[in-house]
Amino acid sequence: MARRRTVAVVGGGAAGVLATRELLRCSDDRVIVIEPGEPGGGLAYGSARPWHLLNSRAGAMSADAADPGHFARWAGCRPEEFRSRVEYGSYLRSVFASAAADHGDRLEVVRDRATRLGPRGIYTEKSGEVRADEVVVATGNPAAAQPAGRPDHPDYIADPWQPSVLDAIPSDVPVLLIGAGLTAVDVALTLTVDGNRDAPITAVSRRGQLPLTHAAEARPPATLDLDRPHTLRDLVRHVRTEAERAGDWRTVVDGLRPNLDRLWRNLTTKEQEAFLRHLARPWECHRHRMAPSVGSRIAALREEGRLEVRAGGVRSMIAPPAGGLLVELEAGVQWFGAVVNCAGPGRLPGAAGSFARSLLDDGHARVGPHGLGLDIDARGRLVGAGGRVRDDLWLIGPLRRGARWETTAVPEIRSQALALIDRRK
Ligand SMILES: Cc1cc2nc3c(=O)[nH]c(=O)nc-3n(C[C@H](O)[C@H](O)[C@H](O)COP(=O)(O)OP(=O)(O)OC[C@H]3O[C@@H](n4cnc5c(N)ncnc54)[C@H](O)[C@@H]3O)c2cc1C
Repeated sequence: MARRRTVAVVGGGAAGVLATRELLRCSDDRVIVIEPGEPGGGLAYGSARPWHLLNSRAGAMSADAADPGHFARWAGCRPEEFRSRVEYGSYLRSVFASAAADHGDRLEVVRDRATRLGPRGIYTEKSGEVRADEVVVATGNPAAAQPAGRPDHPDYIADPWQPSVLDAIPSDVPVLLIGAGLTAVDVALTLTVDGNRDAPITAVSRRGQLPLTHAAEARPPATLDLDRPHTLRDLVRHVRTEAERAGDWRTVVDGLRPNLDRLWRNLTTKEQEAFLRHLARPWECHRHRMAPSVGSRIAALREEGRLEVRAGGVRSMIAPPAGGLLVELEAGVQWFGAVVNCAGPGRLPGAAGSFARSLLDDGHARVGPHGLGLDIDARGRLVGAGGRVRDDLWLIGPLRRGARWETTAVPEIRSQALALIDRRK
């Protein structure tokens, strides 16, 4: 009889949980999850507060692609609803718990941080070597990008997801958010949740564009003819025409989604660079949308003058002796009692987390296209230094960005997890 193989899943966030579920459900493998916290936490769902809603409807968030209603049934809601991310974290933990209940004899959780890939498995900080035949890397996003000249100062918050950092900001000091994406929206909601804040919040980003809002009513994605090879210019023209025809651009954005990886890979490197420079941010605003109730709340904050969104960059920040930070913006120098970095993920290798960094240092991985993630082959195996690909080292989740485009949200991660089952074919 063949020896049962052991797969180590490094990271127990959404991707780690979904991978573990599929590996246990669809194979005979033993699975060891290496994760310092409780599996089912992670950045998006582990650090959220009750007022942070999913930016997708419940019907899109099932752990099981074959059963799209699974999350909505678990939450006791309609598939069209936007539920909280805290609740989704509980759902992921329940998905993990039921996989453990069904296949506990083949599952082990090592509550530790992986440090390096070794010849026989994974080295960890405290538990020594965890032996494994194969490794699935699921360590999440690169660290957030930091503005040039970021100060080392208590009133500069480099990571708004650290526990309680936002609670410590007094309600009577103006706050600057660097970035105007979904993280800035989350931070603005947290800072204003109790209604006591009387000082304004300013969000700055290159374009001064907030995410757009989902329609109140769900509509099915448009069917698009995307079979012809497209240049970036053709594609943009085609999408604009279709959006005008459809009446609601959201249906076209949603219709593009299943095709995005193919479209991204068909672009030349120059076109991908042009997309990243000019179109990525507007695309993100259309693609990653706020729930309608969040959109209304943000609109109200802007109307009341409590949230201002400006285009432009941060030129410099200095710390005056009296506290807070003097920030040079396009419009001049302004004092803020706190500055919160709400930028998206930074570029690799600088923004690599410690495990991804060790894979790069040891030549098991190389930086992927445009520094957005790690390089992978068509099957999701990490590509190492010199183009070497090993059969036992897989990557899922946001670190696939660059080699793929659409790889951060649950539906895509769910398919990547399911595809792991076919990896030995
Ligand atoms: C704020 C936010 C909101 C989002 N909202 C939605 C949404 O509404 N709908 C949607 O579809 N998608 C959403 N996403 C996108 C997506 O669901 C997340 O990016 C997803 O959580 C990625 O899962 P992950 O497991 O790859 O990363 P994470 O959830 O961040 O998990 C990574 C895990 O790896 C562990 N880890 C890191 N390094 C090590 C190491 N060295 N050793 C062991 N463990 C390690 C960490 O402890 C962590 O638990 C959101 C993302 C963010 C950031």
